[in-house]
Amino acid sequence: MRPLQMVDTLTQYHKIKAEVDAAVIAVMESAQFIGGVVVNQFAHNLAQYNGSKHVITCANGTDALQIAMMALGLQSGDEVITPSFTYIATVEVAALLGIKPVFVDVDPRTFCIDPIAIEKAITPKTKAIVPVHLYGHAADMEAIMKIAEKHNLYVIEDNAQGIGSTINFSDGTVKKTGSIGHIGCTSFYPSKNLGAFGDGGAIMTDNEELANRLRMIASHGQSKRYYHDVIGCNSRLDAIQAAILDIKLKHLDEYIAARNKAADFYDKAFAGHEKIETPYRDSKSKHVFHQYTLILKNTDRDALSAYLTSVGVPSMIYYPVPAHRQKMFDAFGGSDYHLPVTDWLTERVISLPIHTELDEAQQQFIVNHVLKFVNG
Ligand SMILES: *Cc1c(COP(=O)(O)O)cnc(C)c1O
Repeated sequence: MRPLQMVDTLTQYHKIKAEVDAAVIAVMESAQFIGGVVVNQFAHNLAQYNGSKHVITCANGTDALQIAMMALGLQSGDEVITPSFTYIATVEVAALLGIKPVFVDVDPRTFCIDPIAIEKAITPKTKAIVPVHLYGHAADMEAIMKIAEKHNLYVIEDNAQGIGSTINFSDGTVKKTGSIGHIGCTSFYPSKNLGAFGDGGAIMTDNEELANRLRMIASHGQSKRYYHDVIGCNSRLDAIQAAILDIKLKHLDEYIAARNKAADFYDKAFAGHEKIETPYRDSKSKHVFHQYTLILKNTDRDALSAYLTSVGVPSMIYYPVPAHRQKMFDAFGGSDYHLPVTDWLTERVISLPIHTELDEAQQQFIVNHVLKFVNG
């Protein structure tokens, strides 16, 4: 059996090695490392895939979120509503821009922002909602967009873990996550579902004016070369990463299917267990299983994790401290928040290895050890 890892990007690479190596060499031979045809082609193909009119590539997912907030004109004193049960980047960029992140609770089944909690947190200063499609489960975008319309708010989707997920709306339309809000942001960090061989990110929108503004901000606020209209930043996806991503994009649906197959295996193995709650799947959306995250009941999670490590099974806690309890948010009154679902989940979640290269022998080994521990 191959050693177990949370993600196995090496085996995945080996399956497409010839194509990837040739594409990387072609970029080197072109000597066009920044911008150019390869980057544009990837942006075009990603826009097509995601059903978004415009894709602006950038250096990473954190920058994508920051540039999105800048392009929407969010500024000091404004408030954005976000989940606390998320990766720190989502809220850190708001704080960096002087915007107040207002944390709300999540739905205990989907792990995603609770629309009812959003509505309660709206104040006259609220400018935007930032839902996160956590672990690859889509947030309830239909409800969120209704709230945003009613209160005239922007929606920025943090789609770093959700790329490829789809949502069925009640009017019969089907849309990809990241194409529903005013702006969608994603990350190509190597372990993400569409991972580069380094850093990368992208911003999506259907609004042309917004697209131009996003592009300008990602490039030093330039409207044309050496003419800087607004304060921006420097955030670029390089051509080598774009070449690799363009190849991997063609396999993304296959990768998502492989993740779902692995999730099905776990679901079946843990079904009905009194101490293990398997990930909920909403019938209105497609889970892309960036993570496979269990909720443990009446189980010593640290002891399980230590046991799994001792037998060669990696596991992770995403995330051990919710954003509102991070030291960096003390100044925002982080610890004053009452987010019982977030705290409850934070103490009970554990993520098992999930990726495109897991085989059944590996999964059976993982399952056997999890069950051995929890069954005592
Ligand atoms: C990975 C991730 C980001 C940040 O992406 P980077 O490319 O690492 O900057 C933001 N939000 C979420 C939910 C993520 O998982």
